Amino acid sequence: MREAGTKRTKTVCTFCGVGCSFEVWTRDRHILKIEPTHGPANGISTCVKGKFGYEYTNSKARLHTPLIRVNDGQHSTYREASWEEALTLIASRFTEIKQAHGPDALAFIASSKCTNEESYLMQKLARAVVGTNNVDNCSRYCQTPATMGLSRTVKTGGDSGSIADIEKAGLVLIVGSNTSESHPVLATRVKRSHKLRGQRLIVSDIRKHEMAERADLFIRPTPGTDLVWVSAVTKYIIDQGWHAKDFIEQRVNHFDEYYKSLESFTLEYAEKITSISVETLKQVAEEVVKADGVCILWAMGVTQHCGGSDTSTSLANLLLATGNFGRPGAGAYPLRGHNNVQGASDFGSLPNFYPGYQGTGDAEVRAKFEAAWGVTLPVTKGKDNHEMIDAIMAGELHSLYIKGEDTITSDSNANFVEQALSKIPFLVVQDIFFSETARYADVVLPASPSLEKDGTFTSTERRIQRLYKALDPLGDSKPDWEIIQLIANRLGGDWKYNHPGDIMDEVASLTPIFAGVTYERLEGFKSLQWPVAEDGTDSPVLFLKEFPFPDGKAKFFPLEWIEPSEEAGVEFDLHLNNGRVLEHFEQGAMTSKVDGINRMTPLNWVEVSPELAAARGMESGTKVEVESRWGMIRARVLVTDRVQGNELYMPMNSVKDPVNRLTGAHVDRATHTPAYKETAVRLRVL
Ligand code: SF4
Repeated sequence: MREAGTKRTKTVCTFCGVGCSFEVWTRDRHILKIEPTHGPANGISTCVKGKFGYEYTNSKARLHTPLIRVNDGQHSTYREASWEEALTLIASRFTEIKQAHGPDALAFIASSKCTNEESYLMQKLARAVVGTNNVDNCSRYCQTPATMGLSRTVKTGGDSGSIADIEKAGLVLIVGSNTSESHPVLATRVKRSHKLRGQRLIVSDIRKHEMAERADLFIRPTPGTDLVWVSAVTKYIIDQGWHAKDFIEQRVNHFDEYYKSLESFTLEYAEKITSISVETLKQVAEEVVKADGVCILWAMGVTQHCGGSDTSTSLANLLLATGNFGRPGAGAYPLRGHNNVQGASDFGSLPNFYPGYQGTGDAEVRAKFEAAWGVTLPVTKGKDNHEMIDAIMAGELHSLYIKGEDTITSDSNANFVEQALSKIPFLVVQDIFFSETARYADVVLPASPSLEKDGTFTSTERRIQRLYKALDPLGDSKPDWEIIQLIANRLGGDWKYNHPGDIMDEVASLTPIFAGVTYERLEGFKSLQWPVAEDGTDSPVLFLKEFPFPDGKAKFFPLEWIEPSEEAGVEFDLHLNNGRVLEHFEQGAMTSKVDGINRMTPLNWVEVSPELAAARGMESGTKVEVESRWGMIRARVLVTDRVQGNELYMPMNSVKDPVNRLTGAHVDRATHTPAYKETAVRLRVL
């Protein structure tokens, strides 16, 4: 029986894009337990983070009050300040900078940890109040290339179906995704259908993780060559006449042009470039055409390369060639990492799109937002996160407002980012902890985490779900949407949102894909998968009748393969890969404040193959220095056959020795997503 004073509140997990829902039991500020009950994605399951990862909410390290930098000429430190003081300073500095250098001298970074409503307000602040399109979010660091690949081919950048549909596929092909550690509950569903329903599983990865060990076929391409084997398999399927001719005829444009572009992608060429044998490539092709429905799941092993968008596009081309769109149990599933990577972009925190992917360059769309917001909106495309850092170094950007993002640990080339943030004339950081990035801020604002606010998140399957406030904000902290509104009104806005539901009503009125989204329709465990029609009908599976291009047809997109920008060579002779571990969220900003989780993975490590360890006299526990062209860190060795030869792997969850001290300046050609997975290093035993 429930004790008096115990409260149960429905919330949505804040640790990954699967979007598990559960009830959190609280008494006063104590978090008693997490109980999954009716989650549409998870039923009664969670992973270790979802179940035990919320202690950070009451961490002593939480920010309680605004902080203002004080400089005595020699040292700088921080003093506590009132909201009045902090907001006055921000408003006056933003105004001064705008008057002196124009609105494009300011920029805004939103967070995919924050709610949809907060993403909407951040881009509205940038565009309608300050007058710049310089706004982006941290999907730039991970999944923007996947969105690009899908927008080139099928127009809509979200997952083609629901997580439940993946279980209906005859074959699941996982490319560059450590699914069992990064999206654990989704992986469990794949494992179940593989084991119990005979679903086939192919995994392509350079590291032998758990899903690779379970796979019917595990292929291990040379790093950065996925596009080659995917295109060769597609060509082989077409050469054999196994492609979906009727589907292509009726539903896809540009087949001839695309087929011609595949000319050089023979199986023999693919074998030479990728190290996957011709026989294995034929086997992959046969598995794909034999399967009753193919779902391709991919993540940052694909996207975080200089050709991340192109490889994502090649996966969509393969699905189109084999007719694997427009039905349950088939399609593209780029797996979103953060809880709200999908929503942060959907709700407009992007330099070239208003909410719902309505282009800022479209005069009709712009006129609609101008009428609704009562302002004249900027026309120039804004800067993305990557361009913002370069613009600081070039002296063009004078102010940055970062919400819920530790840019120094999450962007690549951390030493360069740190240098840029130390130079910017005015930096505002809004977070729940005093992050590495906050060390360079002029003003630090204390925000509230998910358990202390209302709002919605959108999971990887385009599913919008509500979270309800379980606890009051700690100390003087506030939900991000309230803080953004306070800043907007100090700058002359006249915003009067009393609740995130008011914000959602405004979004729905301006955004066709959210036309029928209301808080009533999302009450409790109810959810909606966009696009949502005005009458509330949602879309669990996309493209059932047509693709959202003007003629209703998808497009093949011809590609060429370009070698990775940074490969292991003479001076830096090893290739470094990086990724998540099960227990931690991203760089560990929140989970490193949870004692139990932290005890399980206290140190950073570098995985070394048995053959490399033997050649260099290393064993598990050996201390090493890992150095790239961009920086150096220290770690301990873990010898494991998960990696092979000259491949190294480091988890990304260390704040003390972040792997991004090693990653470089090269980016995806189409989207500027950093090529975190293209890093050459050398290793020295200490
Ligand atoms: Fe579910 Fe992901 Fe949260 Fe784990 S981290 S409980 S898989 S949403």
